Amino acid sequence: MARGFFTLAFRVLTLVGRLIIVLVFKLLATLVSSNSKQPLADMASASGTQGTRAEKKTMRAVVWEGKPYEMAVRDVPRPEIIQSQDAIVRITTAAICGTDLHTYHGTFGSATPPWSMGHEAVGVIVEVGQSIEHFKVGNRVIVPFSSDCGFLSVEQRFEDQGAFYGEGSDFGSEGGAQAEYLRVPFADDSLVAIPDDFSSDLDWLFLSDVFVTAWTGLDYAHFQAGDAVAVFGAGPIGLMCAYSAILRGASKVYAIDHVRDRLDKAASIGAIPIDFSSEAGTASEQILRREPLGVERSVECVGQECLNHDLKPEQNYVIQETIRVTKYNGGIGILGLYIALGKSEGTPRGELMDKELSISIPAMFRKNLSIGSGPVNVSLYEVMPRVFELVKSGRAKLSWIVTSQVGIEDAPKAYDRFDKKLEIKVVIRFPWVREQPVQVSSEPVAEVETAGEEGSRSEEKSPVKISSGRKKPRRPSQS
Ligand SMILES: [Zn+2]
Repeated sequence: MARGFFTLAFRVLTLVGRLIIVLVFKLLATLVSSNSKQPLADMASASGTQGTRAEKKTMRAVVWEGKPYEMAVRDVPRPEIIQSQDAIVRITTAAICGTDLHTYHGTFGSATPPWSMGHEAVGVIVEVGQSIEHFKVGNRVIVPFSSDCGFLSVEQRFEDQGAFYGEGSDFGSEGGAQAEYLRVPFADDSLVAIPDDFSSDLDWLFLSDVFVTAWTGLDYAHFQAGDAVAVFGAGPIGLMCAYSAILRGASKVYAIDHVRDRLDKAASIGAIPIDFSSEAGTASEQILRREPLGVERSVECVGQECLNHDLKPEQNYVIQETIRVTKYNGGIGILGLYIALGKSEGTPRGELMDKELSISIPAMFRKNLSIGSGPVNVSLYEVMPRVFELVKSGRAKLSWIVTSQVGIEDAPKAYDRFDKKLEIKVVIRFPWVREQPVQVSSEPVAEVETAGEEGSRSEEKSPVKISSGRKKPRRPSQS
């Protein structure tokens, strides 16, 4: 009897033990499984990104590491307020610029990599320094490509134009805008407020560079309504230049490129496409057959890495073409990048850019041509109020140049496609849920709504945005 009782008790205990072991294993499996389903942001925290979600100290950014034809996306320190005139902008949409491709080719940028890329963006202010007067947290803003330098300088320095985002330490050590956050120095004079309405980021993004720059290229060429214009290059700047010329009353606009999609895009807005590699002859030959005296204005939107009629590199080719095609008393604007920085770690192919280029001064002299060139100067920013009003009124619509929208993890692929001329303009979207970025798919995210746009709807009207008075006014009024 007693023996039977002990046997039964032993069996019961064995069964209970097995049950406990099974339960422990199931519990462990559940824990492992739930951990593997953690969102990316949490995994990043667990694997080294500091702090909790709210205290995250790093962010994702497109980074140039000095390797030609390679762009990386890395965790970099999230910017913080350094001076009381700073603002921190959470980027909602950024763009890849043709200038970025010169860095991608290893021919332009600072001597010392790495640095964060990008200088075209819109976003939402998430933090302001105590001296900021015209902006507050929650304002939607355009980030023009160059920040104010803050002080009146009497010395001739490159930095007189302000510092450029996304070009590394030799250009002011500003951060890049192809990132989740950007520190904007002297924010009262470096940002443009977006009216609080239901407009899309893409309505405003191209006031950060391409539309303003393209518009100014016509000013460089002394454009007047009624002029015929030849725009060399139908990339983003060239297309925006052709568009600006049409808006400003050009009698004819020739758009010159060799990429079919770009020429088609130019034709779609009413420009006359000219394929400079065609058997019909060079661009100047083709245009001069139609305009025997030439066009009043030419704008160069390609830069020193340009190609000739045979699609071979020839660094002075396009400038020479502008001289050939521009008529007596005409004007030439040069917006493309002409800069020879030499070889460095940051510009490993910089020596390919000739420091001197020969152009035909006698031809220019004989035709009485004038020429304007260079990066759009901050002091020319009085153009911004005019182009701003065109966008605000709906007269200028700029998003038609966009061919792809991607998440930041796909930026390297987008650089490659843009470089291969498979894209005209790529924008990087940053969809947000409250303060946290979410993983974006590699598919285009055309209809993604950013928290910035969403958030702005609950904000009250932006304050009137005018210059602080420290320097001459050069930002648009938002009234
Ligand atoms: Zn740009």
